[in-house]
Amino acid sequence: MIDEAKKRALIEAMAAAMIGHAEELTALDQAIGDGDHGLNMKRGFEAVLADNDVIAAKPLPDALKAIGTTLVMKVGGASGPLYGTLALALAKELPADPSRDDLARALRGAIAAVKARGKSESGQKTMLDVLEPVAAALESGADPVAAANGAAEATIPLKAIRGRAAFLGDRSIGHMDPGARSSALLVAAIAGVLG
Ligand code: ADP
Ligand code: MG
Ligand code: MG
Repeated sequence: MIDEAKKRALIEAMAAAMIGHAEELTALDQAIGDGDHGLNMKRGFEAVLADNDVIAAKPLPDALKAIGTTLVMKVGGASGPLYGTLALALAKELPADPSRDDLARALRGAIAAVKARGKSESGQKTMLDVLEPVAAALESGADPVAAANGAAEATIPLKAIRGRAAFLGDRSIGHMDPGARSSALLVAAIAGVLG
């Protein structure tokens, strides 16, 4: 049961992960982007955290809608609209008290929304390269955190086809995608609360 206390804890855990890893995410983005991913995610989740009392009191779909709207407004860059789309799509797809199966189904739908928004696919060295394996883990009963961490590592040898890193061509090879890393951190934060 995702009650108000759990929603509050989920927001605290996601915000702590983004604030605590802002420098790491920025360093990853300095290697293959414009060096703002840590700051973007920190700004967005600080804004969500500041509204935690209001957001956590809402039913889960409305809470996700509030989070998505805040991320679109505050994160900026490419990742703001994409994480915003993810949260807004989850808001539409999730019941108020979801099972693991509901989560898997909703995540699949939300991934499709991110792909449409980003005109992107898996294998292009983006957050999608973590989100899809997480959905697969939820479906198969595997550990979503292990899947997410392994999938983020697996972006290192990929050549970027979408996002700023794509401008680097072959020089994007050999670095972890910042959005893949932030996705893995968010998955670990969520799983730490939901257990
Ligand atoms: P910006 O690139 O505008 O500075 P950020 O640095 O905050 O934005 O976010 C970059 C991350 O966004 C990338 O590491 C990648 O994971 C993700 N990303 C960028 N473009 C796309 C896309 N078209 N589809 C999916 N994810 C994307
Ligand atoms: Mg950037
Ligand atoms: Mg930027």
